[in-house]
Amino acid sequence: MKWRGRAGSQNIEDRRGMSGGGMAVGGIGGLVLVLVLSALTGQNPLDLLETTGPVSNEVRPGGVPADDPQAEFVSVVLADTETTWERLFDASGESYEAPVLVLFTGSTQSACGLGQSAMGPFYCPGDRKVYLDLSFFRELDERFGAPGDFAQAYVVAHEIGHHVQTLTGISARMQSARQRAGERESNALSVRQELQADCFAGVWGHYAAREGLLEPGDAEEGLRAAAAIGDDRLQRQAQGTVVPESFTHGSSAQRVEWLRRGLESGSVDSCNTF
Ligand SMILES: [Zn+2]
Repeated sequence: MKWRGRAGSQNIEDRRGMSGGGMAVGGIGGLVLVLVLSALTGQNPLDLLETTGPVSNEVRPGGVPADDPQAEFVSVVLADTETTWERLFDASGESYEAPVLVLFTGSTQSACGLGQSAMGPFYCPGDRKVYLDLSFFRELDERFGAPGDFAQAYVVAHEIGHHVQTLTGISARMQSARQRAGERESNALSVRQELQADCFAGVWGHYAAREGLLEPGDAEEGLRAAAAIGDDRLQRQAQGTVVPESFTHGSSAQRVEWLRRGLESGSVDSCNTF
C-alpha cells in the first residue's frame, strides 16, 4: 500500500506506555484464553469485557510521533477512511463524524470496560473509539499467517466499519434485537453485523484502489487476513473443534466473501448482510 509521506489523521489518541490498570491477560495465551472462554460460554469475546465504568484517562486526540512508522501507517489509513466515509455520507446527505483511534499497550479503559490487547482490536460504541494495540499486527503476521500492510489496513477499516454501523443506527438496532434473542440467534445476528463490517472495510479498499493507493498483492493480503480470523479457523486452532452455532464473526469463507463484495462493488448497498 502506498502510504509513506501521506498525511495522517489527527484523530489518534496515543495511550501507549500508560498503565491501564486491572488484570491484563497478555499476549497470545490471553487471546486463546478469551477465545476458549468465549467458545465455552457462547459469548462474544467482547462481551466478556463488559464491565462498564467511568473512563478516567481521557486524552486529547492528536497526531502520532515522528519516527514511528507503524503508528504513522495506522494514522494514514485512518485518514483515508475519513476521506472515503465523508464522501459516502455526503453523497447521501448525511455528515460523517470521524471516530478517535486509541493506540494502547497492554490494557486501557474504554466505555465498554477494560480493553486488553489480548482481545484484539475493537470498537466501542459507547465512546465511539477504536482501540488498537499495534502488537496485534505482529500476531496477525506470525500467529495468523497474514502479513502485509493491507492486511493491517483491513483490520483498521473493519473497526471503522463498526463505527459506520453506529452512526447509521445499525448497531443500536442489532443490540436491542440481540437482547431479545436467544443465544443461537444472537450469535447469528452478531455474525451478520461482523460480516457487514468486513464488507464496509472492502468498500474503503475499493476507494483506496481507485485512488491508486494499492500495490500488487494488497487485495490478496486483505483477503488472507479475513480468512485467517474466521471463527472456524480460530476455533480449530484454540480447541481443535468447530462449533458453528457459537460463531460470532463468521467463517473464513464468509469473511472473505463479504470483504471481496465490498472491494469489488465499492457500494454500501452491496453490504446488506441482514
Ligand atoms: Zn468486528
